[in-house]
Amino acid sequence: MAAAARLTIDLDALAQNYAVLRTEAAGAEVAPVLKSDGYGLGAGHLGQRLWAEGARSFFVARLAEGEALRAALGGERPATIYILDGMSDGEGPRLDQARLTPVLWNLSQIAAATAYAAQKPSPWPVALHIDTGMNRQGLTTDEARAVAQATDRLRGLEVGLVMSHLGSAATPENPRNRRQLADFLDIRSRFPRARASLAASAGIFLAGDYRFDMVRPGVSLFGGGPRERPDERLRAVATLTAPILDTRNLNAGEPVGYGESVRVAAPTRVAVVAAGYADGVIRAAKAGGAVWFAGAARPILTVNMDLLVVDLGEAPAGIGEAVEILGPNARLDDLAAAGGTVAHEILVRLSSRAERVYRGEA
Ligand SMILES: *Cc1c(COP(=O)(O)O)cnc(C)c1O
Repeated sequence: MAAAARLTIDLDALAQNYAVLRTEAAGAEVAPVLKSDGYGLGAGHLGQRLWAEGARSFFVARLAEGEALRAALGGERPATIYILDGMSDGEGPRLDQARLTPVLWNLSQIAAATAYAAQKPSPWPVALHIDTGMNRQGLTTDEARAVAQATDRLRGLEVGLVMSHLGSAATPENPRNRRQLADFLDIRSRFPRARASLAASAGIFLAGDYRFDMVRPGVSLFGGGPRERPDERLRAVATLTAPILDTRNLNAGEPVGYGESVRVAAPTRVAVVAAGYADGVIRAAKAGGAVWFAGAARPILTVNMDLLVVDLGEAPAGIGEAVEILGPNARLDDLAAAGGTVAHEILVRLSSRAERVYRGEA
């Protein structure tokens, strides 16, 4: 085995997660979110396979991501691609050229869209994002009500989708969810001809009334649990493995790696593994993170740029044997929790240095 980390992306696992989400969403369209190059896993490959599984609408963040996904899907897969960034002045021709649908989220974007649409012979399809309490992105509910009343403010536009985003869906008991739902119900009733979408991954697993016409999962497609912990219904899509380069025995009290903050308490056999933060293994994972090797979790002692060191315990280990850093056993949500972050960030940091292999038909 080459002395390098390998990232395997399992498209069959992706298809299975998509099927789980379709069942869970019970009748709502499941529109994959493939922003940031499909959470770092390759939006083109993922989009092609998800199209084959029945996906017909996708979301990305940036205009350039939409253009890249359109190119990857090609003429034979005419999906609707929504741009969460919306549009700014002058972007109309590029959006049109790639047949992208902007998700407009403030009044100046609506102005830019109506100005562009004025030159068009037929209504231009757009979506609207309403802020129901995240205080991040979207028209305020007051703005949305005003726009719905004064329809000339949407002249030339065909609002096909009204959406909002939940800020606390990973904690179902949080009353903020119900407040956002109530506001969204009010707003969507003011756009009776548009479809409605509120839930991302976590929202799909809330009560059924959060699902509306369309749901927008990202991280759960890739195996991230809706409650920020591993969920047995979802399979790992990304598996990061790397070979053991060497093993050594440390005496009690010896430090490991840079600085002296990490010391082994007892005599410890460690393995040096050919992966580091340049391959996307976040440094913070040394605090409570573990790799999977020889049938058990093995604590990570330190993460450097190119190498990490793990506590082997009693496991016999040979040079060249593979360690699983992320995958079906070293679970995404566990690594995220150990690193004090979310599964989304773990995925987008999987860097391009690790050799990439796709498994399953695109
Ligand atoms: C990123 C994003 C999603 C997907 O979120 P996940 O938690 O990955 O499912 C859905 N909707 C919006 C508006 C987003 O920004």
